Amino acid sequence: MADCIFCKIVSGELPSYKVYEDEDTMAFLDINPTAFGHTLVIPKKHFSNLEEIPADLLQQTILIVKKVGQSIKDNLDVAGYNVCENNDPGANQIIPHIHFHLIPRYKNDHLDPWPQTKYPEGKAIQILEKIKIN
Ligand code: 5GP
Ligand code: ZN
Repeated sequence: MADCIFCKIVSGELPSYKVYEDEDTMAFLDINPTAFGHTLVIPKKHFSNLEEIPADLLQQTILIVKKVGQSIKDNLDVAGYNVCENNDPGANQIIPHIHFHLIPRYKNDHLDPWPQTKYPEGKAIQILEKIKIN
């Protein structure tokens, strides 16, 4: 896609610190890391989100998330890592080329988890009825 930053990284038009590359996928360091080693994993072909990407390519991409996660665990002094995919602009997706964030977690990094709440009486079943898949 002509105006896509990640397509330009794939084509080499824009530089990146490449962590991994194969025929269909690529992983590179996030330019503004949440933590050192923050890596983005993408399919090379442009698809905007989980709804758009074909299942087989999604499978390949998530296996690279696993591979890069292993490298982060093996080679950085991390306590673990988070995997995140912001799906759509309303969920903070800024680059409209699907990507998975791998965010290394270091001891005492104070990256607090998202806030949580409680279901008021009857709400959980109401939501369940809407989204459950038979
Ligand atoms: P999103 O909010 O779309 O899930 O995340 C996009 C990510 O891409 C952000 O974390 C941002 O720092 C990263 N990013 C934006 N532009 C560039 C770039 O030109 N190069 C690299 N390596 N990362 C970028
Ligand atoms: Zn793209």
